[in-house]
Amino acid sequence: MNLDRMRRYAETETVDVVVIGTGAGGAPLLARLAAAGLTVVALEAGANRDPATEFVPDEAMSADLYWMNERVSGGKTPEAFGANNSGVGVGGSTLHWGAFVPRADARDLRLKTETGKGEDWPLSFSDLLPYYEEVERFIGVSGPANYPWDADRRYPLPPVKRNAPAQAMIAGCEALGVKASDGPVAVVSEPYAVGGIPARVPCRNCGYCHQGCRNGAKTSMDVTYLPLGLGHGAEIRPNSFVHGFERDRQGRITAVLYRQGEVEKRQRCAAVFLCAGAVETPRLLLVNDLANSSGQVGRNYTAHVATQVWGTFDKPMRMNKGYPSAIITEDMVRPKDADFAGGYLVQSLGVVLQTWSDQVARGRGLWGRDLVRYLDRYNWTAGIGINGESLPSEENRLTLSDEKDATGLPKPLIRYSEGENEARLKRHAVAFMRQVWEAAGASDIWVLERTAHTIGTCRMGTDPDRAVVDPFGRSFDTPNLWICDNSVFPSSLAANPALTIMALSLRAADRFLDRAAPTAVGQA
Ligand SMILES: Cc1cc2nc3c(=O)[nH]c(=O)nc-3n(C[C@H](O)[C@H](O)[C@H](O)COP(=O)(O)OP(=O)(O)OC[C@H]3O[C@@H](n4cnc5c(N)ncnc54)[C@H](O)[C@@H]3O)c2cc1C
Ligand code: SF4
Repeated sequence: MNLDRMRRYAETETVDVVVIGTGAGGAPLLARLAAAGLTVVALEAGANRDPATEFVPDEAMSADLYWMNERVSGGKTPEAFGANNSGVGVGGSTLHWGAFVPRADARDLRLKTETGKGEDWPLSFSDLLPYYEEVERFIGVSGPANYPWDADRRYPLPPVKRNAPAQAMIAGCEALGVKASDGPVAVVSEPYAVGGIPARVPCRNCGYCHQGCRNGAKTSMDVTYLPLGLGHGAEIRPNSFVHGFERDRQGRITAVLYRQGEVEKRQRCAAVFLCAGAVETPRLLLVNDLANSSGQVGRNYTAHVATQVWGTFDKPMRMNKGYPSAIITEDMVRPKDADFAGGYLVQSLGVVLQTWSDQVARGRGLWGRDLVRYLDRYNWTAGIGINGESLPSEENRLTLSDEKDATGLPKPLIRYSEGENEARLKRHAVAFMRQVWEAAGASDIWVLERTAHTIGTCRMGTDPDRAVVDPFGRSFDTPNLWICDNSVFPSSLAANPALTIMALSLRAADRFLDRAAPTAVGQA
């Protein structure tokens, strides 16, 4: 994004707020706080890019969009970090995300009350609703005129085009009597203009969303909230890796310490919003021994169950064309025959060739000539996948390893073991997706085990002994520290996380500004 004309602040000036990280958590609140007249500086570890010239439809050349510093992975089902896990750069993980934006299901926010398992959120769906609506309007969400699972919901734009995997999922679900619909997608399906940022052009159906959208049709923070923030006088400093904090005698943060290349720098500030994601946020807190009187920092790390099912069709699917995940069903958010707590969303899938090759090698165990032979089927294959609840567990935990990474800080060590609930949910989902794919006409169906998203580690709550931040994201221990990113989720929810992160981000900013929450459309 163009940073040429942004306002700049002196490091010796005490700015009102430093925001660490410019992804889904950091960007909306940066814009809100700057619009309220506060002086705001964002420190972002990664580079600033020009989408038109620096994003390429090539997976290998897009690897620099990912956070590739090593993370040590342990537990019974260790997570695959690196490529395809979390992002770096001005815009954070939204540069390469899939932009699939379901809202949380109200039942998932009180899963513990409902089932005795998991964790309740310290807020209700009605607290989130006005923010969901505001975010959807601002970032330009395309979706159906009538959302089958919520009669009151209206999306600002008509659905994106259905590609062949989307058509197949609709056919398979119809044959089984399962409701399926165009999904909520943060991709503008028509020219879209909202106040304060440049107008956006519609999706060209190139299919390379995960490599960074070159025309800005896909929502990422660098085409939405970050330019809005710059317009209101915020400054964004790319290539600025935060590693420490200065504090006064009362424990309040007075300055943020960061490195630009080899140069050590320091920004004085009155408050900090830490929005570095569910791995880097707890790492920074643990390294600096900050905000952890509860002992909860790093605990309850989780990731969505994200199993996929793939099959071969007898007609060309060409799944590299079009927005990849156009269709959703929410019928499995509470399946009637479930032997597990929570549920899952199902979406249609298309992936581009190299990603698919990696998945085939891993999922089918193919190598060499056998792999190449199978890859010849690329144009005839398509998939569906889930985003499923994964229960929080104290044992699934991020700590600091003895090794250091390129930043000079201890590498995060993440132990993750899926539990019985996840295993049961996965069994149910695989059986369901197989049925849908068989009904859609797929043969030679196979399953790819995977997880998605980094969640938890600094959960929000009302009890300072059991949570790191309050229900608005404010640290119980350090009053001028706020956390707003994937780390504050008390449980994973079935929904993909980013829309909820953005909603929480605006809500945190309103609380910081001591403003009342907006009213949801249709509410008094
Ligand atoms: C391949 C992929 C596809 C996805 N698709 C979807 C989807 O379709 N729908 C959905 O809802 N979610 C999706 N997600 C998840 C979504 O992108 C994340 O949940 C969301 O962006 C997380 O927001 P965040 O603010 O927690 O972190 P991020 O967006 O990752 O932002 C954190 C930022 O902090 C910066 N940072 C970290 N440490 C430091 C430091 N020490 N100093 C300075 N800066 C630092 C990072 O560089 C990064 O820019 C996807 C994720 C991936 C990896
Ligand atoms: S498919 Fe559409 S949203 Fe995705 S990268 Fe291409 S133009 Fe952008």
